[in-house]
Amino acid sequence: MLSVEEYLERVLAMARPLPAEPCPIGEGDGRVLAEDLLARFPVPPFSNSAMDGYAVRAADTSGGEVRLQVVGDIPAGVFSAPEVGLGQAARIMTGAPMPPGADAVVPVEETDQPQGVAPLPDAVVVAEVRPGRHVRRAGEDVATGDIAVRAGQRWTPATAAAAASIGYTQVPLMRKPRVAVLSTGSELVAPGANLGFGQIPDSNSLLIAGLVEQFGGEVLLQRAVPDDPEAFRGALSEAREADLIVTSGGVSVGAFEVVRQVVEGEIEFVKVSMQPGKPQACGRIVGPSGAEQALLALPGNPVSVFVSAWVFLRPLLAAFHGLDAPWPGNQLPAGEGWQTPPGRRQYLPVVVRGGFVFPAHSLGSGSHAIGSLHLAEALAVIPEAADVIRPGDLVMVRPLG
Ligand code: AMP
Ligand code: MG
Repeated sequence: MLSVEEYLERVLAMARPLPAEPCPIGEGDGRVLAEDLLARFPVPPFSNSAMDGYAVRAADTSGGEVRLQVVGDIPAGVFSAPEVGLGQAARIMTGAPMPPGADAVVPVEETDQPQGVAPLPDAVVVAEVRPGRHVRRAGEDVATGDIAVRAGQRWTPATAAAAASIGYTQVPLMRKPRVAVLSTGSELVAPGANLGFGQIPDSNSLLIAGLVEQFGGEVLLQRAVPDDPEAFRGALSEAREADLIVTSGGVSVGAFEVVRQVVEGEIEFVKVSMQPGKPQACGRIVGPSGAEQALLALPGNPVSVFVSAWVFLRPLLAAFHGLDAPWPGNQLPAGEGWQTPPGRRQYLPVVVRGGFVFPAHSLGSGSHAIGSLHLAEALAVIPEAADVIRPGDLVMVRPLG
């Protein structure tokens, strides 16, 4: 039996670097930046006003209650700004360029002028202001040539906005890992189909595909495959463009374990000391095109699939991007007791109510309880050494966010 960490190490070893490709900055959400972005111009690009008010020479305002001659208006977006000489001021709006001569802005609230729409006055009485006050200096956020966004950063609306503000329209983003999802089982029928004797709807395909996307992968193919080696070989061949193939089912010790039948010898089948999720397999296989592909074979029980996806698939997809996948958690007291298998790390779907942890369902970690898995807000992670959790025991809770 391998520990979770030992098996995770083998899973992560399957990752390979992904090529980068140029991507419009507005379309990269969730992908990872492949190269540092150097600022092509500063942010802000020019010194500008942080307030609606009057641009002045700070030295002119000493003592306050000073009357200055108003030489013009500077709304945002102007092409030029009047020079502000001794004893002068210019009305200025937030984001408008500081006029030559001025070194501070007096907010309109600190003048004798009305706020809002008003004609340009000939003169303004202003309060005292320090040099540089209410001025956003050119480059004070980012200077030209600074690394504004670092390689390895996940693309978000905020990185897109940063990239726009330093002069980019396209950026090199890593291609997402392409993933094929193959659920095995002759009992599986498509959701919505009438159930014949012994049949169940294929829920794992949806579950895995959704989690792949949530964890930063791209789903190329998603289908159920019967427990027939020829059918499974055919599905592997359909998945030839995938960087990673994720299967469910067929890895256990039954008599018809199709994944095992087809790829045993190529990849390693192991037992991992966890519950649920004990039978697992992973390794690199040579696809029909001769290229290597990573294969992550999860057990078939839906809750095992879910737990295995959080524990192994999530960090694997991050590793394809060269990233770690930290999974922070909190210690919280159990609100009720439950059993946990000694010698195996338990991952229990839980909810948190009033600061206490409760199993999300009376079946606990019953690995088939897919109808109630969605209730879980977190997984409680119980160490191998424990055999029971008593009310009030502190347990580690990792959110499913
Ligand atoms: P297996 O690992 O193939 O023995 O499957 C273990 C359990 O999970 C069995 O009860 C299967 O019917 C169930 N199962 C396997 N695949 C799926 C799936 N795609 N959707 C829902 N349940 C599944
Ligand atoms: Mg099966």
